[in-house]
Formats: sequence, structure tokens, C-alpha cells
Amino acid sequence: MPRVVALANQKGGVGKTTTTLNVGAALVELGHEVLVVDLDPQAALTTSMGLSPADVEATIYNALLEPSRYPLANVTVPPPDAATPALVPASIDLAGAEVELINEIGRERVLADVLAQADVFDYVLIDCPPSLGLLTINALTAAHEVLIPVQCQYLALRGMQLLLATIQKVQARANPALRWRALPTFYDRRTAHAREVLEELRAVYGANLVDEPIPSRVGLADASVAGQSVLAYDPTSDVAEAYRRVAKELMHAAR
Ligand code: ADP
Ligand code: MG
Repeated sequence: MPRVVALANQKGGVGKTTTTLNVGAALVELGHEVLVVDLDPQAALTTSMGLSPADVEATIYNALLEPSRYPLANVTVPPPDAATPALVPASIDLAGAEVELINEIGRERVLADVLAQADVFDYVLIDCPPSLGLLTINALTAAHEVLIPVQCQYLALRGMQLLLATIQKVQARANPALRWRALPTFYDRRTAHAREVLEELRAVYGANLVDEPIPSRVGLADASVAGQSVLAYDPTSDVAEAYRRVAKELMHAAR
């Protein structure tokens, strides 16, 4: 069975989607079969992989709400080349899923059941929406590990308490083996402020912090506009290197 990693933080703009795309590409580069799942109705992951959410035929919405008609294989877009993970896309339909799932029996486990069909993959990365609603709870229930991108900026830790409390509830009720780590993102080592925030994160989270921060880099948005990972767009950049190191840390934790 694959190792399932959820990228979660109810704050938007912290690097969940960018991390999903680039850690996914790094794991492919390291020789693994990788599936990335877009669980955000905004469908930013789908778009940054070069697909138009309006044009995709079937999405994670169909897999969650109509599982007998849409097995996982039927909603998976195969990789266009050898450097790219397979994708389960999202579209705006998914915005309705939170409400529609409420009446399902075992509503927290619906995604876990879908991903039970992901046995051809070594890794599944789930890009969560910026909320702690039922979609994120489904991702936490399905995951072995949560990776929490945290910006190295003022008020970085705000909201973490609530997210960690949510993780604890999922551990207590549904998924005792769930582990979590925070990943510092948007790190600009030239500023004293970013260095201070990183020190604070290290002091607060200790071994639960991924040691290598993801550097801040203005050009990163260009790669996703081009529908590419930064590993494909600018393979020797410091950001690409940082994402390769995160991928190796995930592999290490999987053993
Ligand atoms: P989230 O999924 O948490 O909302 P995104 O991954 O979409 O966050 O990132 C938000 C924006 O910041 C995007 O435009 C993305 O290209 C940009 N971005 C992400 N990581 C970095 C980084 N390390 N340096 C600079 N820009 C980044
Ligand atoms: Mg996102």
C-alpha cells in the first residue's frame, strides 16, 4: 500500500499546493510511482499541472460521491511524461461535497476508502483546501502523515493550535497512527525576521519540524503558470533542491 501524506493548513497561501506539486515531482525523480490528489475546490493543483478544471471529465468529487460509477482509476489522469505524477483533479463541484458528504455513513472515511484502490502507487499526496472542514478531516483520516507548510513570516504560528487540536481528535477517534510535521516555507535567509521565525519554529516544534526550510523565491509562481514543477522548470534552483530534500525526508519517515 502507498504511503499517504496530507498537505494541510487552514491558512491559504502557505505553500500547500506548491509543496504537493514539487514533492510529488521529486518523489517521481527518485523513482517512485506517485499520485497527487487535488482536494481543494479552487483546483489550484489541477491548474498548476496544466489542466483546465472545466475540461476534466471526472474528478475527486465523482470518486467521493459516486464511488461505484467512478473507481479511482477512472478519475486518475495519467502522467503526461516520465517526470510528472499521476493526478486526481478537482473542479468547483467539490465545493458542494462538504455538504453532500454530511449524510454519508462513515463520512470521515470516504477518501480513505477511495485511496484503498491506490495500491499501484508508492506515494499519495493530498492537497487540502484552506479549511478544517470535512474534506480536510477526510484527508487526515486517510493519511499516514500530515505535512503542514508554515510561512517563515509574522504570525506564522497563528492557527497552528487549532490545526494540531484537529489532528489530535482524528488520532483519538479514527487514525491513531497519524503523524505530523511542520515544513517552514517562504524562507528568506537574508532577513533577520525570517531567521527569527525559523528559530521560533525550531524551539516550539523540535523534532516535528522539517529541518530544511523551503526558500522564498519570486519566480516560483512562473513555474506553476507554465504548468510545471520547479524541478522541471528550474531543476538546479535552491527551491528544487529543497523540495528534493523534503521528498527524501518523507521517504525516510516511510521506512
Ligand atoms: P496554498 O496552497 O497553501 O494556498 P500555494 O502553494 O498556492 O499555497 O502558494 C501561494 C502562492 O505563493 C502561489 O502563487 C505560489 O506560487 C507562491 N509560492 C509558494 N511557495 C513559494 C515560495 N517558496 N517562494 C515564493 N512563492 C511561493
Ligand atoms: Mg492550495
